[in-house]
Amino acid sequence: MADADDQYYPMVDMDTCIACGACALSAPQVFDYNDEGLAYVTIDNNRGTIAVPAPFVSGMLDAYDGCPSASIQIQKSAFNNCQHK
Ligand code: SF4
Repeated sequence: MADADDQYYPMVDMDTCIACGACALSAPQVFDYNDEGLAYVTIDNNRGTIAVPAPFVSGMLDAYDGCPSASIQIQKSAFNNCQHK
């Protein structure tokens, strides 16, 4: 699935995120943490509606691969549902 030339729409499942703090180390332009340390996607407030800008795709995929709870979901088209932080 991982092809750095493709467009990716990431979204964090904040119900399963364990607030480990890893994803924003790999992709600080894409992920940040709320007051509880749970991660969310900054570029669209975790709605999964905006594709990651090309320069940040590689880091986002590293975060996806490294998430210990598999909480980072990615699609090649926008998510329809909406999950707020
Ligand atoms: S790497 Fe996964 S578990 Fe860790 S903060 Fe990010 S989304 Fe949460």
